[in-house]
Amino acid sequence: MSALAPRPIYLDNNATTAVAPEVFEAMVPFLTEHFGNPSSAYDLAKHSRDAVTKARGQIAALLHCDPREIVFTSCGTESDNAALWSALRSTGKKHIVTTQVEHSAIHHFCETLEHQGYAVTWLPVRADGTLDPAAVEEAIHDDTALVSVMWANNETGVLFPVREIADICRRKKVLFHTDAVQVPGKVPIDLRAVGADFLALSGHKLHAPKGIGVLYVRSGVKFVPFLVGGSQERERRAGTENVPYIVGLGRAAELAAEHLIDEQTTTRARRDRLENEILRLVPGAHRNGHPTERLPNTVSLWFDGIEAEAILLKLNALGICASSGSACTTGSLAPSHVLTAMGLTPAQARSSIRLSLSRFTTDAEIDRALAVFPAAIAELRAALPAALQPAR
Ligand code: PLP
Repeated sequence: MSALAPRPIYLDNNATTAVAPEVFEAMVPFLTEHFGNPSSAYDLAKHSRDAVTKARGQIAALLHCDPREIVFTSCGTESDNAALWSALRSTGKKHIVTTQVEHSAIHHFCETLEHQGYAVTWLPVRADGTLDPAAVEEAIHDDTALVSVMWANNETGVLFPVREIADICRRKKVLFHTDAVQVPGKVPIDLRAVGADFLALSGHKLHAPKGIGVLYVRSGVKFVPFLVGGSQERERRAGTENVPYIVGLGRAAELAAEHLIDEQTTTRARRDRLENEILRLVPGAHRNGHPTERLPNTVSLWFDGIEAEAILLKLNALGICASSGSACTTGSLAPSHVLTAMGLTPAQARSSIRLSLSRFTTDAEIDRALAVFPAAIAELRAALPAALQPAR
C-alpha cells in the first residue's frame, strides 16, 4: 500500500484483528530488555515470570476463573486439539459429540480421529444456525468422552446455548469443551455460570498478535498434555513461554472487558445499520443466521445469482476487506460446510459473504461501505443474463 493510498475499510475481524496500540506498547519491553526465560533463576528472568503471572490473572479476570486454570498455547487450533486429545486420553473412551458447523480446528481434528477409529456424532443445526440442546443430550452414551460445541460460529456469528449444554454434560458426567475463539470482548464469558471443562481462545481475534492462544482447563479435570517436554504451564503445555505475546494477550483481555459494553451497543448498532441498509438497498440479498442469537459484530449475507468470489474481488478493488463464508480448496470455491448444514444450496452458500466489525470500525467507514456496496452488486448483476436478475 502506498503512503497516499487510503486505508482499506477492514470488515474481516472474524478472520483476524489489528493489534491494539496498548497491546503493542505492553509487549515491546518483552521483545527488547526483558528477554529472560521465565524458567531461569536470575533477576532478569523474574521480569518475564512476573509478566506471565500478571497476564494469567488478566485472562482469568476476563473469563471469571482461577488463574491456575489458564494454559498458554500457540493458537486457538492448538487449544481445541489439546482439549479433545486430553478428553480421549484421560477417559479412555472413544466417542465425541460435536456439530456440523465447527471451525476446522475441531472439524478436521474430529475427521482425523474418525480415521483413527474414534466415533464422532456430528449434530445438525436448525435453518437459522442454532442448535437444539436436547440433541446433545440424546447423542451422549456410555462411551462418550467429550462434547465439543463452539460458543459462537465464526461464519454467521450464531451463538450456541453453551450454558445449557454444559449443564447437560455435567448431569451426564461427560466432559464439555467449548471453542470460544470468536467470543471475548463481544459477549460476556462467565465460567462460574457456564460450567465448561475446557475452553479455547485465540489472541489474534481480540486485538493481540497471531500465534498465541489459551486453553482453560477446569481445576480438578484430569489433563493429558498434547505437547510433552519441559514442565512449563504446570506440565500441561511444554515449550518455553512466548512471553511478549502472552503479555500482549493479557493486556488485550483487559481491554476486551473494558470495551464489552461498547461492542454490544456501538458496534452492534453499526453492524445493524450496515446489514439493514444492504438488505433494504440490494434486491435479492438474504441474511444467514438467527437475527438476534448471534455476535454483535457479524453480518453473513447471500446474494441471488452472484458468486461470492466476484463480490469479494469487486470489494477489494473498492478498498473493502471482506471474506466469503466458503473455504478455498485446491483452487475451486467449495461451498461452506456451515451454510450447507443450515440448509443453503451449494449455489446459495457460494454466493455468501461475511462482514465482521470491531471496535476500531467507524461510522465513516460504514458510510463509505454503504455508499459503494449497492452499486457494486448492481454492476455484477448487470453482467448476468436477464433470467438470473432478481425481482425487485
Ligand atoms: N475456532 C474458531 C471459531 C475460529 O474462528 C478460529 C480462527 O479462525 C480458530 C478456532 C483457530 O484459531 P487460530 O487461528 O488461533 O488457530
